[in-house]
Amino acid sequence: MEIRQFVTQIYSSNITIVEKNNHILIIDSGLEPEKLKTIVGNKKVDGILLTHGHYDHCAYCNEYAEMFNTKIYASKHIKETMSDKVALYSEQDITFTNFERFIFIDEDCKIKIGEFEVECYLCQGHSKCSECYIIDKTLFSGDVLFKKSFGRYDLKGSNKEELLESINKIEKLDFDDVYCGHGEKSNKDEQLNNFVIYKRFLTRNRNN
Ligand SMILES: [Zn+2]
Repeated sequence: MEIRQFVTQIYSSNITIVEKNNHILIIDSGLEPEKLKTIVGNKKVDGILLTHGHYDHCAYCNEYAEMFNTKIYASKHIKETMSDKVALYSEQDITFTNFERFIFIDEDCKIKIGEFEVECYLCQGHSKCSECYIIDKTLFSGDVLFKKSFGRYDLKGSNKEELLESINKIEKLDFDDVYCGHGEKSNKDEQLNNFVIYKRFLTRNRNN
């Protein structure tokens, strides 16, 4: 399995291209479709996977699905976020109304998308529809975890306690490398060291 990440123009989010036997799985959709087309070339796109419904991660999902004639896989909670102009956080205040190409994922399950076996874990806290995915022991953490920090929890649909629960959940999962929604890649050892600090921060209140 080969993994490449590209930084988009929308809040510098990452788009991740996972490749196996000439088949491609696209994780998130903030890169302009023409640029993605050049990257994909004539390889087969098996599907589009969304880590969550913030605009910098879902912007062009319908254009990609149309272009590659494929489906979009995302949390069953994503529709609520993408149809709400505040929760979507697009600079143009747009909302999404077309979900025809979506396949909604149930809480914590395994799905097969073409060549790819994907473990899906609902990890709320940064958003109501945040999903972390594991493919061949590689974690795709979206905006839940970054190399040296965790996702914001002050947005519409965010929740500090839920983020803490998600970090506890991820800690128990089996993975090696971590590809994040923004910034550089990381790995489990680095994350396990960070988790101690994250948990201390997330359980702290004004008095301690
Ligand atoms: Zn986000």
